[in-house]
Amino acid sequence: MMNRELIERADKIKFFLMDVDGVLTDGRLYYDDGGKETKVFHIHDGHGIRLMHEAGIKVGILSGRKSKAVEIRAKELSIEECHLGVADKIGRFNEILKKHHIDESEVAYIGDDLPDLPVLKKAGLSISVASGIDEVKDHVHWVTRRPGGLGAVREAIDFILSAKKGEKKKNQVGFFKK
Ligand SMILES: [Mg+2]
Repeated sequence: MMNRELIERADKIKFFLMDVDGVLTDGRLYYDDGGKETKVFHIHDGHGIRLMHEAGIKVGILSGRKSKAVEIRAKELSIEECHLGVADKIGRFNEILKKHHIDESEVAYIGDDLPDLPVLKKAGLSISVASGIDEVKDHVHWVTRRPGGLGAVREAIDFILSAKKGEKKKNQVGFFKK
């Protein structure tokens, strides 16, 4: 059953921000023989991002690592804000809010590891993934049933969009806290 407070939080969301490694990917880093890093993305997540755009919700990426593959994927999906190699995620989070004139209560953030915690503690709707570390999962409003890289982002998006539509889906995936 969808928790009322969660639905209210999701209903306010105007901006969806994502960590990359362990969220949009399974967290494993793939290197080829030349030392070049590649990433694997899930098609369901990509379509979810398109659905967010159709619903008028902006999408952004906030990653601690630099990656050409992420840059390309972000461009492909018309992601409004793509921030890579960010050491201070909370600082950048505040800048994005300012730029888009939005309140932290209007932002959903999905992350899996300790560098995400400061942002997760501020975001109006904080989400982690099944494969996230326990300390992070203990501090968020909601945890997806799927692990990072395997449709967790899509699950989060479907949750937000269905909450906005006021749908109380049967067999809603994920488990609810608070
Ligand atoms: Mg991560």
